[in-house]
Amino acid sequence: MLLVKISILTLSILFICSPVTMENLNINDTTSGGSNHADSASLSPDEKLELCLIGTVLTDKTVRFKAMQECFASLWRPSQQAIPNYFMRIFLLPSSLCDEIEKLMNSFWWGHSGTQNKGINWLSWDKLSMHKDDGGMGFKDLSAFNLAMIGKQSWHILISPNILIAKLYKAKYFPNCSFLDSSLGHNPSFVWRSICNSKFLIRAGCRWRIGDGNNIPLWNENWLADALPLEPINHNNLMYSGFTVSDLMENDSKDWNVRRISSMFDQTSVARILATPLYPSVSDDRRLWRGESKGEYSVRSAYRICVHELLDTSHLRVNGSWNLVWNIEAPPKVKNLVWRVCRKCFPTRVRLRDKGVDCTQICALCVGNNEDSEHLLFNCPSSQNVWNMAGFSQVVSNALANNNDAPAIIFQILQQLSKDDSAVFACVLWSIWKQRNNQIWNNVIDAQHFVFSRAINMLQDWKAVRIVTSKPGPTVQDSAIP
Ligand SMILES: [Zn+2]
Repeated sequence: MLLVKISILTLSILFICSPVTMENLNINDTTSGGSNHADSASLSPDEKLELCLIGTVLTDKTVRFKAMQECFASLWRPSQQAIPNYFMRIFLLPSSLCDEIEKLMNSFWWGHSGTQNKGINWLSWDKLSMHKDDGGMGFKDLSAFNLAMIGKQSWHILISPNILIAKLYKAKYFPNCSFLDSSLGHNPSFVWRSICNSKFLIRAGCRWRIGDGNNIPLWNENWLADALPLEPINHNNLMYSGFTVSDLMENDSKDWNVRRISSMFDQTSVARILATPLYPSVSDDRRLWRGESKGEYSVRSAYRICVHELLDTSHLRVNGSWNLVWNIEAPPKVKNLVWRVCRKCFPTRVRLRDKGVDCTQICALCVGNNEDSEHLLFNCPSSQNVWNMAGFSQVVSNALANNNDAPAIIFQILQQLSKDDSAVFACVLWSIWKQRNNQIWNNVIDAQHFVFSRAINMLQDWKAVRIVTSKPGPTVQDSAIP
């Protein structure tokens, strides 16, 4: 069904010069033998809206961009993080539009609308979209996600050259070469331009499963076990330009021809070739997607390859034992609070003043020292009493002796505590923060034993709810028993 929809939309955009309307969506589905008849009823209201908006303005770049903005404004719901996926499967969004959407999502995440430039965006969307193991929240990088979705079209064109849409593209844009060798061409459509932009992702993510090797060019293809092309060596590329992988194999058996390989390549390349397995049971050369065990393309694995291997995000990574934070068995709000402390975007008074907020920096609990994360959560006399009650005074003082910033203190403590104690520790952190907020915003002073008991009660309540919701509900038959 997905292919049908993509074909319909792409055909409309490729070949219909007049504005797209609901009526001319009645196109025979020739990709499935012409027996099915897809019409506008097969598209959801969101998809119809996208199609009309895009189809009517396809030829004008400025108007197209404006239509995209309007389309997103009407479809995107920041409260649900709902991105119009159908739109993003077909079109490469302009980077400026991606930036605009990410800024909106970022503002929403940090708890303000963003329209009036109020509030503090503690971290940029780039940092939030890093993997959780690298200090981020694992949100989507919109540009990479867009490429991964369009890559699915490119993948179908590559591995299914006989489907209608692949034949049409080939006839129009690459009649004399392969899809991966194709160029943008003269006056390309917006859809083809989008597909071409995703080819680098396809190149990086696909590899060959070697059958007889006759269809796999020796150079510039990922057929080795390490999924990297063979390195060009001096004049060898020209001499062996027409070679295929079958030329490196024995004639009468499915084995590498070691003598020939050794005479053609240096030791490194020979080792890489001989480390590539040949399976006698595989007879056909076939492209596989290396991100999935079954070799089928998936947006999830393509996004992972795009973000982890093709984009350089090393400068956005933050070292730390982040898995200890995310593995805490406590409510999400508690883990988010621990993450914020470790990510140094915890709104203590000292940090607020760093961000330009005109406020005092004196600790509200002891009215003695500056309120930074280390003091408020660990060094403040009020907090230390709470740690005594919780039985964590020794582990906290050990961590304070070895470290002087809150992330290092928390990572060390979490490393030393058991799973259950880690949950209690995190909930006490949360309760201390709530105590501070109650005092500042509600003028309510929480007793220290209450701070501890609130953490324990909250954790027990959360666990109880999880046990109830994880139990399977009664079946109809069970409930009928008196
Ligand atoms: Zn204090």
